[in-house]
Amino acid sequence: MRPAGDEPLEIVIDEDRCMGSGNCVFWAPETFDLSEAGYAIVLDPAATDETRLRIAAQGCPVGAISLSRDGVAIVPGETEG
Ligand code: SF4
Repeated sequence: MRPAGDEPLEIVIDEDRCMGSGNCVFWAPETFDLSEAGYAIVLDPAATDETRLRIAAQGCPVGAISLSRDGVAIVPGETEG
């Protein structure tokens, strides 16, 4: 059994919001890529450490990236907004 907090984050990209800026790919190229249509896709949620995933999600200019663990939202978080 893995220690608490070690589960990979769940990543959801809101395709209606994504405008293909590529910020997420810049911060976490192992996890995000752009599709041929120019929108973000998730390659491997576990390939990037959580700190950089948070930066990538928070750095999305349109807030299209949601991070959660066990159904609990991490980004956007309660301390934001
Ligand atoms: S940073 Fe946001 S808008 Fe830019 S490609 Fe990633 S999900 Fe899309």
